[in-house]
Amino acid sequence: MTDSASSVQECVDAVLAKTPTGLLINGEWRESAQDSTFDVENPATGQVLATMASATASDAQSDMDAAADAQRSWARTPTRVRAEILRRAFDLVQDRASDLALLMTLEMGKPLAQSRGEVTYGGEFLRWFSEEAVRDYGRYAHAPEGNLRMLITRKPVGPCLLITPWNFPLAMATRKVAPAVAAGCTMVLKPAALTPLTSNYFAQIMIDAGLPAGVLNVTSTDSPAAISETIIADPRLRKVSFTGSTSVGKHLMKMAAENVLRTSMELGGNGPLIVFEDADIDKAVSGAMAAKMRNMGEACTAANRLLVHESRAEEFVAKLAEKMGALNLGSGIDDGVDVGPLVEAKARDSMETLVADAVDRGADVVVGGRRADGPGYFFEPTLLRNVPLDARVLREEIFGPIAPVLTFSDEDEAVALANSTEYGLASYVFTEDISRGLRIGDRMEFGLLGLNVGVVSNAAAPFGGVKQSGLGREGGAEGIAEYTTTQYVGVENPWSAA
Ligand code: NAD
Repeated sequence: MTDSASSVQECVDAVLAKTPTGLLINGEWRESAQDSTFDVENPATGQVLATMASATASDAQSDMDAAADAQRSWARTPTRVRAEILRRAFDLVQDRASDLALLMTLEMGKPLAQSRGEVTYGGEFLRWFSEEAVRDYGRYAHAPEGNLRMLITRKPVGPCLLITPWNFPLAMATRKVAPAVAAGCTMVLKPAALTPLTSNYFAQIMIDAGLPAGVLNVTSTDSPAAISETIIADPRLRKVSFTGSTSVGKHLMKMAAENVLRTSMELGGNGPLIVFEDADIDKAVSGAMAAKMRNMGEACTAANRLLVHESRAEEFVAKLAEKMGALNLGSGIDDGVDVGPLVEAKARDSMETLVADAVDRGADVVVGGRRADGPGYFFEPTLLRNVPLDARVLREEIFGPIAPVLTFSDEDEAVALANSTEYGLASYVFTEDISRGLRIGDRMEFGLLGLNVGVVSNAAAPFGGVKQSGLGREGGAEGIAEYTTTQYVGVENPWSAA
């Protein structure tokens, strides 16, 4: 922000004053039935930003009642009406982009420019699914035996529980809410306790756009298990869509199995980025910066293992070190900041542990490697070389600004290293030989591949993983299919009575 400190504070106060802190149940903002609350912190300062209502099991029951009651009429609402609500919401997100960006920077720390980028990306799901809502095609066919006519239609799945993480507070919500609205489902959205403000602000946008009461219910809480246990056990629920860690995803899948619920799981990642000997190294370094440093490395799509052909490793490391070393660390609200704080103290401490473990096993720190002084949860952008394969930083999801570089000598070794993880979300390949890029793509066990690019996310593309990175896809034509079910109507042959 370019303004003086006092006017920055005025902007902060104004956006916080506009943001609901209650639970959205059946179109009304309410306190928790048991008056429970929790605080939301600014990770750049450690100061409390807001006190939120914290839903308990009885609030979850009210959420579920509201979603179930609204389901029948919402499913019958014409797709054009649903589409226009989403389109109005898209316009409102554009009008209120500065508020949304500021809120995200305040509650999760990313620099304002990146928060604005997320407003653009997150908003696009509203526009994309407003366009998809009316493309509700079925099929009419003749049975091969001639005895039936076949009507195949898509219907809304029914009430959904949507659970989102803190790292992309707007986009993770719009990526679920928009296709659910488009498909005619009602829902309970449970945002992460670290970042509920953006979700509540977004929910108010959906109400202002004309979404009927009960279609979207939003339930902030610091007791997520109480909410999921109540709602997932309710026989009226039809689907759970979750974005978050693999361990919580597995737990929710087990619970969902009890009622044979549909599930979509967008889970963790441990993305490789391969740089071949024929790559354009400047392009590969820019791609690595985007894939590693976006969101301070707190992204499921982050490149966590930079695999570079041995003949180009010196050049790649030198150029990447220069770029990483030049990044400005600071509060995301300040001008010229490239890297904000990590979301909480625990996240910052885990970076220290990962670096210490790698160094103990023989890795070299080329850039960074330490926490920064002062309040807030800052960790320096860190480049590691000569990282042994058993280092934790290569085996676990990093979720922070650490870039470990490894070398390889041929295609087979690169692919084997890339695939040597239980995760399978994002991957990146840099080569100037397009046939090689596509050939490697065939062998990569990942749901997403960036070929000579470091960012692939787009509302029109199907996003999702394989292996322990999840099930299902968000965005694209696939995104709405996750919220519909297929019904087949067999119709008597009209000629049989003629
Ligand atoms: P997390 O699993 O700790 O939490 C995710 C959400 O689940 C939060 O809302 C949390 O409150 C909730 N939760 C936790 N326990 C729960 C329970 N018992 N019942 C119901 N809800 C519960 O993950 P996080 O730390 O918020 O997010 C980081 C993780 O998310 C990383 O692993 C990252 O890779 C993943 N992620 C994946 C994608 C993707 O699209 N694949 C996108 C973003 C983040």
